[in-house]
Amino acid sequence: MDKDQLQRFIFDDFPIRGGVVHLNAAWEAVQARHEYPEPIRQLLGEMLAASALLASTIKYRGVLTMQIQGSGPVTLLVAEYTHEHSLRAIAHWQGTPAGGLRQLVGDGKFVITIDQGDQQRRYQSIVPLAGESVTEVLRNYLRQSEQLDTELWLVADTACAAGLLLQKMPGDSSDVDAWGRVTQLAATLATDELLAIDNMTLLRRLYHEENLRIFDTQPVSFRCKCSRDRVRNMLRALGTEEVNDVLTKEGVVSVRCEFCNQRYDFDGVDVEQMFAAPLSPDVPRTRH
Ligand SMILES: [Zn+2]
Repeated sequence: MDKDQLQRFIFDDFPIRGGVVHLNAAWEAVQARHEYPEPIRQLLGEMLAASALLASTIKYRGVLTMQIQGSGPVTLLVAEYTHEHSLRAIAHWQGTPAGGLRQLVGDGKFVITIDQGDQQRRYQSIVPLAGESVTEVLRNYLRQSEQLDTELWLVADTACAAGLLLQKMPGDSSDVDAWGRVTQLAATLATDELLAIDNMTLLRRLYHEENLRIFDTQPVSFRCKCSRDRVRNMLRALGTEEVNDVLTKEGVVSVRCEFCNQRYDFDGVDVEQMFAAPLSPDVPRTRH
């Protein structure tokens, strides 16, 4: 069974490319870290599939972050996807949210960040949230930012998050019906088919009459990039006063990673050592 895999492909006879992704164990690992209310779970699954598909269209080394910042009961949805095909996600919400994207998020922003480790190669795009679903939001974003016709389908349930993307590349083709044909074929897929059928079978079923070039399968996994060192650096950047305040009150400084729930504890000795050495240059000196 084809699980946790991203597949890129292009058509040989006309300038159209695509990607298809299925997330199973990686998606289950995300859900195991937090109990998400059903509508939020749905959005997060779709965003994770979307982030994998978006990553498949971009060359980068680092982390691609897809964020929806909301003004409704759901204030934040984050999906991260690295060039090494690892992912993680979180959501912030209040109460018991219900409804579709608009009811959940209200007016919001759609933020794409590509962090490649230094400021020069950092890319960020912030646009108003346009669309009634994650699919529409991303489709509108891609059409505007890349000026490329893009179609995509995203689905998620508790066992699987999946998606299919098709993108019309610049260039002419004598086959003027190609875009209509390949997108219509994809649109015939029912939600449960997209969820259940593995990448290769799906591509064969849809496009057996086309010359399709399929690239190497990319295995996808859940991985959090938090570490004791990163948390220590974050605390050092907060400053000795603030950290010692917490230590005095609580007896220990305890930080829990939102993405993976890992807890990092620092006692009096740890805190003393933390501020004994000079701050390393890559630590941000200010926050906010
Ligand atoms: Zn973590």
